[in-house]
Amino acid sequence: MKYPEKFDVIIIGGGHAGAEAAYASANMGAKTLLLTQQLETIGQMSCNPAIGGLGKSQLVAEVDALGGLMGIAADRSGIQYRTLNATKGAAVRASRAQADKNSYRSVVREMLERCAGLYMFQQEVQDLLIKNDVITGVVTKSGVSFLACSVVLTAGTFLAGRIHIGDKSFASGRAGDAASNALAEKFRQRGFEVGRLKTGTPARLDGRTINYDNLDVQHGDEPRPGFSFLPNIENKLPQLPCHITYTNKKTLDVIKKNIAKSAIFSGEITGLGPRYCPSIEDKAERFAERERHQIFIEPEGIAVAEVYPNGISTSLPFDVQYEFIRTIEGFENAHITRPGYAIEYDFFDPRGLFPWLETKKCHNLFFAGQINGTTGYEEAAAQGFVAGVNAARRAKQLEPWVLRRDQAYIGVMIDDLVNNGTIEPYRMFTSRSEYRLSLRQDNADARLTAIGKSLGTITDDRWQSFSKKTESMVSLELFVKKRIVLPEELSRGSLAKKLASSTNRQALPLWDLLKRPEIVVADIADLLPLGVDYDVAASIEVNAKYEGYIARQSDEIVRQKRLENKKIPRDFNYALVSGLSTEVTLVLQRIQPATVAQASRVPGVTPAAISILLVYLKATESA
Ligand code: FAD
Repeated sequence: MKYPEKFDVIIIGGGHAGAEAAYASANMGAKTLLLTQQLETIGQMSCNPAIGGLGKSQLVAEVDALGGLMGIAADRSGIQYRTLNATKGAAVRASRAQADKNSYRSVVREMLERCAGLYMFQQEVQDLLIKNDVITGVVTKSGVSFLACSVVLTAGTFLAGRIHIGDKSFASGRAGDAASNALAEKFRQRGFEVGRLKTGTPARLDGRTINYDNLDVQHGDEPRPGFSFLPNIENKLPQLPCHITYTNKKTLDVIKKNIAKSAIFSGEITGLGPRYCPSIEDKAERFAERERHQIFIEPEGIAVAEVYPNGISTSLPFDVQYEFIRTIEGFENAHITRPGYAIEYDFFDPRGLFPWLETKKCHNLFFAGQINGTTGYEEAAAQGFVAGVNAARRAKQLEPWVLRRDQAYIGVMIDDLVNNGTIEPYRMFTSRSEYRLSLRQDNADARLTAIGKSLGTITDDRWQSFSKKTESMVSLELFVKKRIVLPEELSRGSLAKKLASSTNRQALPLWDLLKRPEIVVADIADLLPLGVDYDVAASIEVNAKYEGYIARQSDEIVRQKRLENKKIPRDFNYALVSGLSTEVTLVLQRIQPATVAQASRVPGVTPAAISILLVYLKATESA
């Protein structure tokens, strides 16, 4: 059957990329259909019950600043919040929240259902309708054809997904969900470049059978560090602690004795897994000198007893999982509620994408999330937002939208993927950004909310609150720059203690005082106007501290921007550019960069090649 109504945008998949894509597209006014295997699993956290972390919380803050949903959902459903790297510089600080998985899912679904123009339909998509390299719609398992101007695929680990537990393996998208085999096959038949990756998850345990008596406890931070820039997000959920335990010699002996039975070591799995999130058998092999490995026991939610033992992901057979888990302190009588497993799945070489996440092979078809070779909810959400925006823009016949590397971690991630590809699941780290001093979690709104406003993804409420905060920032920064701190003020309270070893007690602007690494907002609180917002003051402190570094980076940013504005026509023939080496011609022909800046970042492309390309483009422009 052909569905009678046509949509602007169809999103396939309701995971973290799909939810964000649907939210962005519908908020931009596009008539959007979210087609997913099961409506109940929209916003499902397949693995650990947590959002954020190093590098990742910056992505969440950016999605939030642009008007996305992940930050709000995490703030509404969190049951423990912490600041990571709290004692380090603001550029590497991050928030992390344990989430109540059920609440997280409900909040995501509720937010989607509040979007006018967003429709949902539960069914597996099994084929794509493509005519002359342009997608026109999709076909579901029961033969319903849905037509749309653009389509975003966000199928996660489901494409030809195969679960491995020791020598047992079976088709599945993740535990409890069917694999998407028919659709995976269609992509292979159509010649998309497909590879295999893998990821893994630990067994889940019944918290009632764990003995917490001798385990370390970890509570959340108060006040709670959140993600969203929206004020007053309500969360009345009880806050729960995590616990910490360790593997020991006995655990590692059981694992080493049985290592050949692990699906990763037996050769059952060919795809590479996330290097930074290794399985316990990987750790036993690679870090053989370590006597123990830490395990965080994270609650899966408030209404369930199940816990997630973070740090022992495995694809060992179930009997070995049972044996090694019971050697761990606190887990002596632990009942396993779900076995750990590894999953292998199809992903697409992200070099087959434009920086706006449209496939080069098929017009109006966009890919986002785990299928592009990434791992993590946050990486998926960020791509989902970009793909959703661009799919809606395509339907409105607007130019594609791209974030640059100097604007956002989102720009860094997509630029890395489309230029370099990936051979292992890509996750975000602050070290991936050359501009990390300016790309901070605390200033994501200053960097991106105005962009979101121009895209049409920012609500009036958010815009009002952002404008108010911007006004306070501007006036407080002006105040801090003008306010002179007198010598007698330097000799009071915590300032006196912190400056005890300093011989220079001359009057100085408050701004200069804040530049000192040891001085924080709390030390100067009584010098600020009454009633200032602490977050605003904290951001100003960071601006003061990083002022010099950021100024030095701006020259490079201006140079890059110039190249970023030099567009290269779609399907440009590099063979026509005389002077380019065969190697450079081939690699550029393959990547088809959208701008000269992107071309300059393709591995193997030299500065000399860029000069030749610039000369050629200039000559053809003026011809
Ligand atoms: P998903 O969240 O997987 O969502 C895919 C969606 O697509 C689902 O709603 C599915 O029903 C739907 N779908 C699939 N095919 C079709 C179809 N044909 N038609 C309609 N709907 C379809 N991340 C980490 O950061 N750290 C980890 O340690 C980690 N371990 C993991 C372990 C396992 C076992 C799994 C499964 C995932 C793990 N992840 C981990 C990854 C994390 O779950 C993903 O990165 C994230 O969920 C990806 O989001 P996504 O939106 O791309 O895909």
